[in-house]
Amino acid sequence: MTAGGAGGFTAEQRRAIAAALVTESPATCPACGATLTRQDVAPTPGVAYVRHRVWVLCPGCRRSASVDVKVD
Ligand SMILES: [Zn+2]
Repeated sequence: MTAGGAGGFTAEQRRAIAAALVTESPATCPACGATLTRQDVAPTPGVAYVRHRVWVLCPGCRRSASVDVKVD
């Protein structure tokens, strides 16, 4: 699995971000260590499963990703 080119995190990095978002705020970029900017994404009406989607953007390396954070 490649990094997916510019502008993206690997699956492993997204997983690390998701874990960090649960325990700490703000999270840090797994690629460069900068503090990630996070923006909550409004849940889609009608979607049954409960997940919290967060859009994260790194001001350091400019990678971005939408990460699903499990809400227990
Ligand atoms: Zn970064």
